[in-house]
Amino acid sequence: MKVFLNGQLVDKADAKVSVFDHGFLYGDGVFEGIRIYEGCIFKLEEHLQRLEYSARAICLNLPWTREQLAQYTCDTCRANNLRNGYIRLVVSRGDGDLGLSPKLCKEPNIVIIADKITLYPPELYEKGMRIVTVPTRRINPAALPPMVKSLNYLNNILGKIEAHNAGVAEAIMLNDQGYVAECTADNIFIVLQGRLLTPAGYSGALRGITRDAVLGLAREAGLEVVETNLTRYDLFIADECFLTGTGAEIIPVVDIDARRIGNGVPGPVTKDILVRFKAIVSKQGTMI
Ligand code: PMP
Repeated sequence: MKVFLNGQLVDKADAKVSVFDHGFLYGDGVFEGIRIYEGCIFKLEEHLQRLEYSARAICLNLPWTREQLAQYTCDTCRANNLRNGYIRLVVSRGDGDLGLSPKLCKEPNIVIIADKITLYPPELYEKGMRIVTVPTRRINPAALPPMVKSLNYLNNILGKIEAHNAGVAEAIMLNDQGYVAECTADNIFIVLQGRLLTPAGYSGALRGITRDAVLGLAREAGLEVVETNLTRYDLFIADECFLTGTGAEIIPVVDIDARRIGNGVPGPVTKDILVRFKAIVSKQGTMI
C-alpha cells in the first residue's frame, strides 16, 4: 500500500509522522472520510470544501489549493489501484513542541490513505440494526462547533464504547439540552407521518455529506424534509429510522432503546432512499 504523506507517495511502513505532531499530541487537526465507487470519488468537492471550512474554523491555514488536494486524493487512489473503497484525508497542525501553542507548528502534516472499509456486518443492512442512547453527550457547540470535523473524536469514541458495552454497534448521542444530535459517526433520520426528519445543525449534527445527499434525494422523491430539534420520544414513535455516513452509507434502524421502530423491519421509505442513493454514488463525484 502507498500512503500520501506531505507531497509524496510512500510505502505504508514508511508513512510516519513525528511524535511532536500536534494532531498526535492534542487531536489538533481536521479530517475527511471519503468513498470511491467505480473509480469515482463521491462528492469530492463537497468533502474538500468541508475540510477547508473545518480548517478555517480552527485557524489552520491549508497551504494547498482545492485542485492540489483533489489531485493528491486521486493520485493516492490510483497508486493503490483503488476503484471502490474508502479514503481518509488527514491534516494536522504539524510538528510543534510540548506546549499547546500552535505557533511553533510551522506547517501542517497531510496524510491520505486509500483502503477498504466495512463498518457494520452486512446482515445489519438487511435486517436493520439496534441502537441505544448513551449517557455521553455531544460536545456543546460553544466548546467546539459540531460542524468542525476535527481530529478530536474522544467524545464520540466514549459514545461508541458505551454502545458496545450495551451490546449494539452504534449509539445515539444527545446534545447538552437533551435533543438528539447524531450518532457517534453517522447522522440519524426518521420517517414520521410521511415526512423525513433529521436533527438540524443547531441540534449538534455534523453536516454530513451523505446526509446532504439523502436530503436531496428525498426532496426529489417528493418527500417533505424537515431539519429540526428531535427528542427521543420522536424517535420512539417514528415509522422508520436510518443512519447515514460515508463509512456506514445508509443503514436501517429497527430498534431504539429496546423500543421497536415501525414494524421492526427496514421500511419502504428507507429502501427507496437506499435504491436512489446506490444509483448516484458512482455518478456524482470526481473520476480518478
Ligand atoms: N456525524 C459524525 C460525528 C461523523 O463523524 C460523520 C462521518 N463519519 C457523520 C456524522 C456522517 O458524515 P458523512 O456523511 O459526511 O460521512
